[in-house]
Amino acid sequence: MVDKDYYKTLGVEKKATKDDIKKAYKKLAMKYHPDRAPEEKKKEYEEKFKEINEAAAVLSDDKKRQQYEQFGSSAFAGGAGSEGFSGFDFSDIMSQFRSGSFGDTDDIFEHLFSGGGGGRSVRARRGSDLLYETEITLEEAAQGVEKTLQLNKLERCPACQGKGATTMENCHHCQGSGQMKKTTRTPFGIFQQSGPCPYCHGRGELPQNSCSDCQGEGLVRKKKKIEVKIPAGVEEGMRLRVPGEGELGQNNGPAGDLFLDVHLADHAYFQREGDDLHLTVPLSFTQAALGDEIEVPTIDGKALLKIPLGTDSETIFRMQGKGMPSLRSHGHGDQLVKVKIEVPKKLSKKQIELIKELHEEKASKGFLKRMFG
Ligand SMILES: [Zn+2]
Ligand SMILES: [Zn+2]
Repeated sequence: MVDKDYYKTLGVEKKATKDDIKKAYKKLAMKYHPDRAPEEKKKEYEEKFKEINEAAAVLSDDKKRQQYEQFGSSAFAGGAGSEGFSGFDFSDIMSQFRSGSFGDTDDIFEHLFSGGGGGRSVRARRGSDLLYETEITLEEAAQGVEKTLQLNKLERCPACQGKGATTMENCHHCQGSGQMKKTTRTPFGIFQQSGPCPYCHGRGELPQNSCSDCQGEGLVRKKKKIEVKIPAGVEEGMRLRVPGEGELGQNNGPAGDLFLDVHLADHAYFQREGDDLHLTVPLSFTQAALGDEIEVPTIDGKALLKIPLGTDSETIFRMQGKGMPSLRSHGHGDQLVKVKIEVPKKLSKKQIELIKELHEEKASKGFLKRMFG
């Protein structure tokens, strides 16, 4: 096999940058565009066009360019018209040109160098991601909760089943099989692989007209309800990702993801700090003075808290493991209970006498002195 000089074909120097190659390619591709060929030169133009494409496909790819430098064009034996290096066929490009699928050389360039993919009409695109917000209660955050979200997103058009057309024609690239053989020739041998046809994305058919419901996009905006599981221990502002629940992709492209920002509503009496919960409870001065066992709320029900004799106001008690479940470990935070001793504003005569009596008692002196000066 005669070794081809790809640089010469494109008219660039050996040290040409990718940009130089792209420019040179575009210029030549315009010139030798098969549509521009005069009738008697059709064959010649086509041949030339194939050569340009082959050269550009190799030189625009760093890896192939390196192989080419090392082994020459025989590294890609077969050359024009027979097979593609990255899963396309030059004869296929020619038929795309003939069918007018390519708008301009930008299209074909993108096609060439993006490693496959069809013309403009059937290129698969990943759907967009969606971002939603939800507010949950602290109790829900402690237990974990399932939230129903009302989404408004792009879904498959029911009129055309997402095909973008109500009538389809057999994909001429794969003869309707949806599959294409991909031959890769390397210095180490020939590898053959079967994969989905890049033109019809494995469907075996191409749209013939445009669906009026979706303007040929295959997608329409629709309301959809989904359930999202919010894990126990979720924190304020946490962003959850639900894979595949974003907008549907065009031309069978994969769907985007749904992101959900979780906000926690303020709680009537709990304040959260990390996995700990803070709570302030009132305590009567007799409870504080004499000690008591009181019932305090926790995030999952009531619990008893022992108040020792002679407790000061603003004392903080730690109830271990009574806080929020931790997202990172399997444990729980703590609940920190601050007691606030309430001094009665109105006292009966009898109460006043009792307090006075207590005031005399040595044991409780310290505490009561603080309470009443
Ligand atoms: Zn449709
Ligand atoms: Zn096909």
